[in-house]
Amino acid sequence: MEIYQIGGQFYDSNIYLIKSKRSIIIDTGTGSRHERVIKNLEAYINPKDIDTIILTHRHFDHTGGAESMKRALDAEIIIHESASEALRSGDEVTTAALAFGKSFPKLDVSAIKEGDIIDCGDMHLKVLHTPGHSICSIVLYDSETKTLFSGDTVYTDGGIGRWDLPTGNYKELVASLKRLTEMDVDTLYPGHGPSAKGDGNRHIALGLKSARLWG
Ligand SMILES: [Zn+2]
Repeated sequence: MEIYQIGGQFYDSNIYLIKSKRSIIIDTGTGSRHERVIKNLEAYINPKDIDTIILTHRHFDHTGGAESMKRALDAEIIIHESASEALRSGDEVTTAALAFGKSFPKLDVSAIKEGDIIDCGDMHLKVLHTPGHSICSIVLYDSETKTLFSGDTVYTDGGIGRWDLPTGNYKELVASLKRLTEMDVDTLYPGHGPSAKGDGNRHIALGLKSARLWG
């Protein structure tokens, strides 16, 4: 099992490839660098070998590229159940597509929920619903390797997701961060910025600390 970052420049979210028995993509960026992202992907894997794209939440910088990536990979898109209707109906407001000056296409998505396990073969990613940055935010955790994909809930070095966009909520964000501090995390792969190897817990604790400064 290998993990690669295949995108994440400018406004794009980080895009991760988990290459395993069942290979998956986590987040898709805005889609504005679609061809570059696919090229990066092809350096590691045949795009046809990917069957699932997981979106950590609905925001355009994570989901804008989902439609073109779905077409290129012929893959299923999954997102937390609280966002599936918004994506199916092409909601431009809560996805923040309008804030990027873009429209949002109607997307065919499947819903996942708290406690679901995404079995990649070598990794078993548990879905944890962590609202706050957005109502549909999830993180994905593999307890065996102590790896956490944290979306926009927490970044490295005390960075946390903003809570002032539609469906954001400060109190929920603090509760979600607190929940993450109770987990054992070595490697942290956030939705933006650098990842952390070996000291994920420290970065999550810093995130909770900085969130509480706003309370
Ligand atoms: Zn976001």
